[in-house]
Amino acid sequence: MSLAFREPEEETGRTEHGPLRLEAHASGIALVWFDDPARKVNLLDSESLTALRRVLDALRQRSDHAYPRALILLSGKDQQFIAGADVAEFDRLTSPEEAEAKSREAQQLFEEFSLLPYPTVAAINGPCLGGGTELALAMRYRLASNARKVAIGLPEVQLGILPGFGGTQRLPRLIGLLPSLDLLLTGRSLDSRRAYRVGLVDAVLPHERFSERAIQWTEALLQDPRGVKRRGPPLGLRVIEAIAPLRTAVLAQARRRVLQQTHGHYPAPLEIIGVLRTTWGASSADGLKVEREAVARLLFTPESKNLRRIFTLREEAKRRPETPLARNVGHVAVMGAGTMGGEIAYLFSSRGARVRLRDLKPDPLLRSLSHARSLFEREVSRGRLTKAEMEQALGRIEPVFDLSGLKRIDLVLEAVVEDLPVKQALFRELEAQVPDGCVFATNTSSLSVRAMSKGLRVPGRVVGMHFFNPATRMPLVEVIRTDLSDPTAVQTVIALARRLGKTPVLVADAPGFLVNRVLMPYLSEAVALVERGQPVRAVDHALRDFGMPVGPLELLDEIGLDVARKVAHVLNDSFGNRLSQITLIDRLVAAGELGRKTGLGFYGYEGGRRKGVNPAIESGTPEEGPLAPQQIANRLLDTMVNEAALALEEHVVARPEDVDLAMVFGTGFPPFRGGLLRFADAVGIGPIVERLARRQQEGAPAGPCGRLQQMALSGRSFYKD
Ligand code: NAD
Repeated sequence: MSLAFREPEEETGRTEHGPLRLEAHASGIALVWFDDPARKVNLLDSESLTALRRVLDALRQRSDHAYPRALILLSGKDQQFIAGADVAEFDRLTSPEEAEAKSREAQQLFEEFSLLPYPTVAAINGPCLGGGTELALAMRYRLASNARKVAIGLPEVQLGILPGFGGTQRLPRLIGLLPSLDLLLTGRSLDSRRAYRVGLVDAVLPHERFSERAIQWTEALLQDPRGVKRRGPPLGLRVIEAIAPLRTAVLAQARRRVLQQTHGHYPAPLEIIGVLRTTWGASSADGLKVEREAVARLLFTPESKNLRRIFTLREEAKRRPETPLARNVGHVAVMGAGTMGGEIAYLFSSRGARVRLRDLKPDPLLRSLSHARSLFEREVSRGRLTKAEMEQALGRIEPVFDLSGLKRIDLVLEAVVEDLPVKQALFRELEAQVPDGCVFATNTSSLSVRAMSKGLRVPGRVVGMHFFNPATRMPLVEVIRTDLSDPTAVQTVIALARRLGKTPVLVADAPGFLVNRVLMPYLSEAVALVERGQPVRAVDHALRDFGMPVGPLELLDEIGLDVARKVAHVLNDSFGNRLSQITLIDRLVAAGELGRKTGLGFYGYEGGRRKGVNPAIESGTPEEGPLAPQQIANRLLDTMVNEAALALEEHVVARPEDVDLAMVFGTGFPPFRGGLLRFADAVGIGPIVERLARRQQEGAPAGPCGRLQQMALSGRSFYKD
């Protein structure tokens, strides 16, 4: 028997088959296949929840002694399970009451699955996240395959909410309060091995013929239900959970840690702790009620809305424009094995490409290879790679000194010294060695990409591919298109950035591109405040309090004061000295105090750790008296908004969304604020313009730009909604 649930044709483009199929297996086990034909991954949305309800009704109608003896939920898509709820549906909710009602409906449905009188099994062979994990938790057993794509977790906190389909209740009951707290607060997901270790799955099976194996496992379970041994939390943790004062103390400590890390900006982790505290030991009905009330509240907080916006922008950036890899990039060459080139070579090889890594000197090559090895070793220790795969990946990076052997190269990425004639000469030399169609990507942070194509036979092959430091961790890549760039070359770089797991943003070939241009006024304003006597720590604290991951002066020390100085000069030369004076940086650079790399910058460093403020930086009496943290933050943020408005006016990027995405993923601008321009809209353009104008009267080098002034006059904002 095979029941296909046919859903009406909808605007979503769903086919008539709908996402679920119920199949009676010869063994008497009901198989519920989840395979949404309209999507690459299965998501829990209204349609699939309705289909699940129908499956449940059909099973109940059919229930007799012979069928079903058990139920297995599987994905019809290879190496997939359920990737989560459909985030777009959250945005369509109009009130907390509606959100609570939706949550109640799903909770009820999952509860009914959990109460089925025969064994129910989730067979997980791929990403199982959010609502997918909650559904799996409603099954009596969970199996995971050993496929690398298996990731089980509840990442709701990253969207500013908490699991609202029973996850906050079932997870602690299954694996214990404290391990649940960790998973819920971080939102991290577990591979099969780790999920088994914490007791989240009952068995790990080979991924080959996984569904057959899951059926066999369930048949064995029916033969001997006591054959499955479930490991609960370790004794020590169970003691803590059982003794109320200990439990309270641990939760209070978690709360303090969250407040310290988030400066109180994120309500979701605090709600999670609150829900676990109040519902531990409560009845299922009471627990579910507390959970759905909390999720309904969180969904309507500005923080969650902003986090969801950033999530959606990122998802869009992964798809937009719909470009498959314009050319296959299997062989790449990386020029320069310094800070950037070494990490970029690792990134390419980790995604399967063969890399010729060239430098003029042996030391950078050796350093890059040993750094790549340590990065791969980390993957091995996390169970994401085998040792043999690591050796293969390392073998794909070939260190070289010359420019031979480039006949099959699809793309060259140059990351040599920031010097235009050097880069131009290199590209010219390379052009004689590479095949037609080979793309030249440059990682320059401040030079004109167009100028780099000068003298080339095929100038259209040059595109900017600007990674951020550290390239393995920073998610943004600015893809720089010049007026000469060939669209295929641009598409290749965009698609390649995606394949490396990065978020590409298309920007114009203008000084500083987008991120450095917008960041530099902010950094120089921070230096100017210190020059005028505001304490270094006060400036950094103010911006950390705002939600920046590091303070501006700490960031300057990381970037290197010499590098920052160079970028500041490039921008000042291009934009008519719009930046605040940074003579303090000139002095520090002249003294060889370049930041962390020399052990001294705005701060001193010992053994890699930041110590006190550099004693050579006097704070004395602040010229304007001590400024409040809010005033300091406003000074810096206003300059960023001003510069971003100018960049938009000059079409450096096409949309405010691009600015927001780039600033969040390129600088760590707090995502709960929705990005720089969402933040500007929230505080109001009027007050920003007023402050900038006042600062200009007091001697600041730049006032509000024309676009901001017009926006303030006409009451417009960057976004329409
Ligand atoms: P780096 O000084 O650490 O490394 C540059 C390497 O290039 C050196 O090892 C040098 O020996 C080598 N080199 C010089 N000429 C060469 C040539 N003709 N062929 C091959 N190798 C050559 O520099 P970096 O910090 O890695 O920066 C490299 C590029 O990336 C620059 O354009 C820089 O602006 C850009 N960038 C740097 C950062 C950063 O934070 N460091 C961030 C983004 C972009």
